[in-house]
Amino acid sequence: MSKCVCLKCNAVFDEEDIASWIEYHGLEYGGERWYGSPCCYEDFVDARECDCCGEYITTDQYIEIDENKYCWDCVMIKRLEEI
Ligand SMILES: [Zn+2]
Ligand SMILES: [Zn+2]
Repeated sequence: MSKCVCLKCNAVFDEEDIASWIEYHGLEYGGERWYGSPCCYEDFVDARECDCCGEYITTDQYIEIDENKYCWDCVMIKRLEEI
């Protein structure tokens, strides 16, 4: 199952917990379906686990090295080890 991260508070939640609701924008009929995080009802992005420490990271924050995906902290540690 894939995980998501709330862009407002950085909480990690399951994809199946995504909140959805209808916004009517003052209209009586024909609302629009919106999706948001279950915690803040805000935008969210896909997340995945860091292949090193297992922390959840957003898909635009991870760094790919040799087909593995790492969070910034682990990339820093790996770089230090290589020097
Ligand atoms: Zn949140
Ligand atoms: Zn990591």
